Amino acid sequence: MDRQIMDFRSDTVTRPTAGMRAAMAEAEVGDDVFGEDPTANRLQARVAEMLGKEAAIYAPSGTMTNLIGVRLHCKHGDEMICEAGCHIINYEQAGYAQLSGVAARTVEGRYGVVELEQLQGLIRPDNPHQVRTRLVCLENTHNRGGGKIQPYETVEQICRWARENGLRTHLDGARLFNAAVATGIEASRWAAHFDTVSVCFSKGLGAPVGSALAGSRELIHEALRHRKVLGGGMRQCGVTAAAALFALEHHVQRLALDHECARRLARGIAEIDELQLTPEQIDTNILFFRVDPSLGTAAEFCDGLRERGVLMLPTAPQTIRAVTHLDVTPEDADRAVEVIKGLCRRPS
Ligand SMILES: *Cc1c(COP(=O)(O)O)cnc(C)c1O
Repeated sequence: MDRQIMDFRSDTVTRPTAGMRAAMAEAEVGDDVFGEDPTANRLQARVAEMLGKEAAIYAPSGTMTNLIGVRLHCKHGDEMICEAGCHIINYEQAGYAQLSGVAARTVEGRYGVVELEQLQGLIRPDNPHQVRTRLVCLENTHNRGGGKIQPYETVEQICRWARENGLRTHLDGARLFNAAVATGIEASRWAAHFDTVSVCFSKGLGAPVGSALAGSRELIHEALRHRKVLGGGMRQCGVTAAAALFALEHHVQRLALDHECARRLARGIAEIDELQLTPEQIDTNILFFRVDPSLGTAAEFCDGLRERGVLMLPTAPQTIRAVTHLDVTPEDADRAVEVIKGLCRRPS
């Protein structure tokens, strides 16, 4: 990568490290649709172990593992409850509706964080006028919420309430390991509350591709059928599974560095009057900030940053997202702050 460019648009932009590429080159492979890829099988076993579940299935994307999760729990005409800003609702083309006939009922979280009281009373009565409430989905950490952690006690409460009321639970844990590292609460403890958990290898963990869905042996056996019909049966996928295994071994604890990097970036941004962090407190590796219109629009501000070698993502007319990851260092964060300060001071 061009070392001059500091890319904070997403934690998906990382390139495989030399060690990861070596692991991929050496991966033992077989036809995974026959269940014969030893590396994919090892990855699935490892994910199941790390999440404290009986089984896991490897899939090409988090969009697919979320969709499979929803399909495992809901039939056509069923409803799931989720947070209004969640990835499943906003960035997955409502696949649950398009492909699975599932309705969504949303509640507005505070930076994505949902309270049990918001869900109580939403379960519909058994009445032919209404869809059937079947599932609660949570997202942790919350992408649009600015990498917010859904607090552990609330996860416990919400999932207990769901279980007591006959609802299933799914966690979009694309960044569950960020939540685990930031809180010191192991991924398996977070996962224990859910029927199914999706995790991504292609975000902060730095693998080029892939996600996994974990759950009971029975559910994951069924998930294999869904993955196949969605076109997610991959052949010698041990090549990419090796990258995911490498990431689970080498890139989980270092997520703490991404969080430190995000806090450094946030501290710098907080010193600038025309920029406003939303939320102000940075839990993990994602931050959003508002640009005062006196500095132009978010898109114009990002153009200015780009000319100076810093890439960030405009997500609304006055809002910019920045994400830290494997390919940006704390020094890059400091340099990015200097670039931002320079851009704010520029004569108009
Ligand atoms: C990235 C992401 C996903 C999955 O995205 P894919 O690009 O399909 O792998 C799911 N949920 C969240 C919160 C994400 O950030």
